[in-house]
Amino acid sequence: MISVAIVGAGPAGLSAAISAAETARAQGIPTNVVIFEKNPEPGRKLLLTGSGQCNLTNHGSESGFGDPEQFLSHYGSREQSRFLRTAFYSFTSIETMDFFSDMGVSVTVKDDGKVFPASLRASDVLEALIHRCKISGIQISYSSPVKKIVQHRNGFSLQTSQPKLPSQSKKKEGVEKMFFQKVILAAGGSTYPFTGSSGDGFLLSGSLGHTIIPPKPALSGVIVSQHSLSALSGISFENIVMSIWRDGKKVMSTAGDMVITHTGFSGPVVVNNSRSIEKLDELVFDFSFQEKDFIQKLQEKIQQNGTSQISTVVQNCGIPKRLTDKILEFSGIDSTGKCAEISRKNLRTIAESCTSWKHTVASAGKFSNAMVTAGGVSLKEVNSGTMQSRIIPGLFFAGEVLDIDGKTGGYNLQAAFSTGMLAGKGAANCLDYQSMGK
Ligand SMILES: Cc1cc2nc3c(=O)[nH]c(=O)nc-3n(C[C@H](O)[C@H](O)[C@H](O)COP(=O)(O)OP(=O)(O)OC[C@H]3O[C@@H](n4cnc5c(N)ncnc54)[C@H](O)[C@@H]3O)c2cc1C
Repeated sequence: MISVAIVGAGPAGLSAAISAAETARAQGIPTNVVIFEKNPEPGRKLLLTGSGQCNLTNHGSESGFGDPEQFLSHYGSREQSRFLRTAFYSFTSIETMDFFSDMGVSVTVKDDGKVFPASLRASDVLEALIHRCKISGIQISYSSPVKKIVQHRNGFSLQTSQPKLPSQSKKKEGVEKMFFQKVILAAGGSTYPFTGSSGDGFLLSGSLGHTIIPPKPALSGVIVSQHSLSALSGISFENIVMSIWRDGKKVMSTAGDMVITHTGFSGPVVVNNSRSIEKLDELVFDFSFQEKDFIQKLQEKIQQNGTSQISTVVQNCGIPKRLTDKILEFSGIDSTGKCAEISRKNLRTIAESCTSWKHTVASAGKFSNAMVTAGGVSLKEVNSGTMQSRIIPGLFFAGEVLDIDGKTGGYNLQAAFSTGMLAGKGAANCLDYQSMGK
């Protein structure tokens, strides 16, 4: 009999449990796989994914559909990509799609490669995982926050607190201790803490001697100070160039879609690079056309439509109406004036406002609203082939508790599924206690 405790019933913990139970069963080994979940129900964060539609993985680009290699460029650092390689090869995005299709959740692939359940319901993904746990004989203990893990010579004791029943109102919260040979930590990161992932995984791993790379919110919009464009919230731009400046030096420059929000900026180009943005950085947005080209374009339109209002001509150059109105208002230019009468100075002012905006970052995301946590259990201390701790034999990790943060597009859930599957396999295969951790 092999006993495996899993901390957390999110996508990583559920897939780790399924993989541990099914790997052991395939070898004819009886198992006792128990998931401890601190909430009264599983997968609260999973239900929020993709705005409730669950972008569960990515099918990749034309150059490599389902190719694990194409996945590797979508994570926070080279170290993360190197670490994830084995996990992605052992459970690919194609296998993820097949895994869910086999469980009755057919999937749909969008033009941009994002994969969703065809029903567009995250709850279908969660229900399929829970059903699979049930038929694999996995127990799930809800409302059971793991408070402490103690390592012993041949396993671990886990301490959980059980909620007191109404009839026990005078009793203290119950404390339960249980023994398991293996533990898989899949307690998530520390963003959206109301979902249950509130940093416990870092505390538990740290107490066992693991190094924790300081957690930081990632995948979020940014808040800027003196947001002159807040009245334009909701306007989005395609393929805009965003540069990050710090202490007068350009840190990085990248292009993508952007949306103006009430408090700052969001959209893929901001969200996917928010891990690199710091408070007081200068964000500069440039449209893909240069100022000189824009002036030329504006002059041509003015020559063709001299009697039109300046506002109409600027819009004809591709600037949305609300933005055009705001730019003219800021610049003190009468939007109803005839364009042929506009001065060279005002022409330049309009061109500058249309081609480059600078804003100072007040906050680059908060734990309360960032989609993932950058930082976590140091990858240097985890075997990437098994997800087993290099310092505590029998302890495994899966999902966001690790120092892994992917871009938007299904990359975080795929990392949770792939590391979960590998950790479960590792825990079930690693029966010889003496050889563990090597
Ligand atoms: C709004 C939002 C939208 C997102 N959309 C997408 C998307 O479309 N595609 C994508 O790829 N990624 C998306 N993500 C990211 C993705 O949800 C996470 O990366 C993923 O859920 C991580 O899985 P996990 O199992 O490691 O952790 P989690 O999903 O956080 O699960 C951890 C579980 O552990 C439990 N737990 C914590 N501490 C304890 C403890 N002490 N004892 C017992 N249980 C404990 C928690 O209650 C929780 O249930 C989104 C995230 C957010 C917040």
